[in-house]
Amino acid sequence: MTDRSMRAAVLRETGVPFSIEEVELLAPTDGRVVVRTHASPFCSTDVHNWSGALAKIPPTILGHASIGEVIEVGPGVRTAEVGQRVLVPGTPECGSCYYCSVGEPWQCSELFDLGGVYPDIARGADGALISGAGCVGGYAELMNVSQNQVFPVESELDSDTLSLLGCGITTGYGAVVNAARLRPGESVAVFGAGHLGLWMLQAARVARASFVVVVEPDARRREVARSLGADVVIDPDGEDAVASVQSLTGGRGADVTLEASSSTEAQRAAVLAVRRGGRAVLSGLERGDAEVSIPQVPLSLQSRSVISVQNGNVRMRRDVPECIRLLEQGLFDAMPIITSRYSVDQLDEAREASKNHDDLSGLVVFAH
Ligand SMILES: [Zn+2]
Ligand SMILES: [Zn+2]
Repeated sequence: MTDRSMRAAVLRETGVPFSIEEVELLAPTDGRVVVRTHASPFCSTDVHNWSGALAKIPPTILGHASIGEVIEVGPGVRTAEVGQRVLVPGTPECGSCYYCSVGEPWQCSELFDLGGVYPDIARGADGALISGAGCVGGYAELMNVSQNQVFPVESELDSDTLSLLGCGITTGYGAVVNAARLRPGESVAVFGAGHLGLWMLQAARVARASFVVVVEPDARRREVARSLGADVVIDPDGEDAVASVQSLTGGRGADVTLEASSSTEAQRAAVLAVRRGGRAVLSGLERGDAEVSIPQVPLSLQSRSVISVQNGNVRMRRDVPECIRLLEQGLFDAMPIITSRYSVDQLDEAREASKNHDDLSGLVVFAH
């Protein structure tokens, strides 16, 4: 009989430390595979998931983007094989739902029509069934995931670097390339210089923005933004960010603004700091029930496009190889983004460091 016992960080209750447990991964059913986890970046979204702000239902295993190796396939699996190194990103592509059929797999029904109730993937020693949050459950030694959510990766790069492809890199790259469709020579303002904003900054540079300004309250993060090519950095606690972006762009506002801070205030600023007819791309979530207030004239009269982006609106099989190429050629730099490594037993430390902005991406790494 296959041994599927594993160590996992289980969210038993929101707002209290993770429960580090030995649990039993369920056998893969139709169309599902077992992946031995190599690395899962701790994402700032999981600070909100841990606190209960985004309505995840315990007991569950968080961690919505990972990399690892397929070690077992269930019945009917056609697109994954034992031994493959695979990315397990935040979004599946089933290929057959309405959204996949119309070419928008980043809204795939396999994830977004579940109503927030994710498949059970493990059983605790107490008999409780445990779900995999976001259909991944990456803060555990093993994952039980749909074949539609694993994508083979071909690269000599290590898994620590490639693990960032499932959320930060693809979301940042896609915000610039797929959502904003940035044209060479355009000006860009990025709101927030956490891991996501720093990937947006790097993508904007690669896409040949003429000028990139980064708005970020944390001085350490502004410094990293500068080292990664920001032309100007702005502290929104010390100056009016919208007015500053406008004065840096001929009084108009930036051609493109990209929000990666998750605060509703930054989203409002991102819409107001774009020029008339420009594109504001919004990606963050502060709370599941938060609302953004935007004045009517700039919204309706000034031809601004407000674009929402989910996981970079990427098509995995098209965009991930391109992101890997950018990493391999040194045009994307993961070194300053990976700030710590943790064992799964240290998940609360990773969470604290993410919450306090001590980490950009703290990687939860596993022996393999
Ligand atoms: Zn994430
Ligand atoms: Zn689909």
